[in-house]
Amino acid sequence: MKNRTCIHCEDTFDLHSQLKQRVGGRINECPDCVVELQTEIKETIRAVSSGDGKMACIQILKFNNEDDADLYRKGWDQWSGWNNQRSGSVHDVAFTKIGENSGNDTRGNS
Ligand SMILES: [Zn+2]
Repeated sequence: MKNRTCIHCEDTFDLHSQLKQRVGGRINECPDCVVELQTEIKETIRAVSSGDGKMACIQILKFNNEDDADLYRKGWDQWSGWNNQRSGSVHDVAFTKIGENSGNDTRGNS
């Protein structure tokens, strides 16, 4: 336990609580205020791999927050098979693609 006093609401919060760890923010802001005031601008970066074998492709995605990242990850797992019916949930998540490592570079060699 490491209690801090929030500069916004003067509430006492546990700096090491799971919620605080998850939402981020400064060390003198309680998780509630971080969420409410959206003071946390930390970007959540996730690498998502798709396909398998020679078609493997890694996308580096940037999400607004952990929840979005988790949501995307869940949706991704659900339709990871290319031929499966795709759930729309993944496309409801806001993210930015910041990188891609495609396995398609070797095409033409076969
Ligand atoms: Zn607060």
